Amino acid sequence: MTAFRSIVDKKKRAEENTQEEIAAFVRAYCADQLDEQLVVEWLRAVMAAGMSLEETAALTEAMARSGEQLDWRDVSARVVDKHSTGGVGDEVSLIAVPLAAACGVKVAKLSGGALGHTGGTLDKLACIPGLRTTLSRREFKDQVAGSVGCAIAQASAQLAPADKKLYELRHRSGTIASVPLITASILSKKIAGGAPELVIDVKAGSSAFMQTVDEAQALANALSMVGTRLGRRMHVLITDMDAPLANSIGDALELAEALEALEGGGASRLREVALAVTAAMIGGVTNKDQSDPRDVAARALREGEALRRFGLMAKAQGGDLGAFNRSFRPSLELTAVSGGFIERFNGRALGEFVAANKRDQNQPVGLRLLKRRGEPVEKNEPMLQAFGIADSSAARSELSAAIGIGPHQIPEGPPVIATVLSSIPQPAP
Ligand code: URA
Repeated sequence: MTAFRSIVDKKKRAEENTQEEIAAFVRAYCADQLDEQLVVEWLRAVMAAGMSLEETAALTEAMARSGEQLDWRDVSARVVDKHSTGGVGDEVSLIAVPLAAACGVKVAKLSGGALGHTGGTLDKLACIPGLRTTLSRREFKDQVAGSVGCAIAQASAQLAPADKKLYELRHRSGTIASVPLITASILSKKIAGGAPELVIDVKAGSSAFMQTVDEAQALANALSMVGTRLGRRMHVLITDMDAPLANSIGDALELAEALEALEGGGASRLREVALAVTAAMIGGVTNKDQSDPRDVAARALREGEALRRFGLMAKAQGGDLGAFNRSFRPSLELTAVSGGFIERFNGRALGEFVAANKRDQNQPVGLRLLKRRGEPVEKNEPMLQAFGIADSSAARSELSAAIGIGPHQIPEGPPVIATVLSSIPQPAP
């Protein structure tokens, strides 16, 4: 029996794998030395038996070390990275990244692409004419360390390549839904990105990856503990993703709405989450009057500092913000067939609708909610607008099915559900 077979058999007996075993297994898999079926057996055994904190940290580290790693130790200021587990109408990064930079921390945000029904930050940013999201390592570092103070760029294919390979296999083998595997997947990319401080926004609800608050809590705890063990200062939040966070869905519309928030307006729930995430990112920044970080962030937003910083970031990445057309003409307006209250928005269905209709960047495709859950609606009153989508009975019935009107007034819960754990790194025992 090979050593790799015995690693898998151990896990199948619900025994722990050692750090050395996990590192060797990941190395061999990346070098195409393992039979794929053996890896699937191991993934299934992990799904069934779970992983200890030590095993999850070992897997995260092995995956983080599978490719290039960024190093920020030569930057004297604090360097923070921010990640969201993804949701519909999640424009938070577009606001929190420049806002945190305006408050004095350096923000090095590396992003992957959009996953499934959730839009990706890079796609939204790329709606600015000329803007590049692919930066060289040097460009990324210089932009973050220099006067711009922040960058949002595409993670290179060499960053945690083990995760890409393993995620694809997990997708094919139905082994995505495992807290330790998700934790290692998310954190390996963040650890390889090198920022010593990580803020993670775990979305909870029907429009998110983690459908319940309990699931989100389990992931948040694991992320916080594993990140801390690997020497990162972790701050994990759980925020609501039952309905779309902001009122827009679709790359160009979401960018326009984020700019509105940077100008001091925009959807109130979006603003609340953006301020909570920014406060987590800047928490501990020394300021003369020892203000609450949320107040510091709110002031910088109010005074236009975040908008100015966003403009600098866009320009540094080649974008012409002035050329981004923010006036969109709706192609379809959905009205209520009966009066009552908005009881439900199926954010997942709306996100999937936009993703399925997405075409080229010259024709913005998206939706705008004109109502929120809990608001009264009268018969024939407009509830939603669609952009860049042909007006057809099929489109109308798909959109209608995603909105529930009824007699019950069910207000939306608070946008920030919990700030899970704020921790400082502990040396491994
Ligand atoms: N997002 C990730 O990056 N990895 C997972 O496994 C799930 C969500």
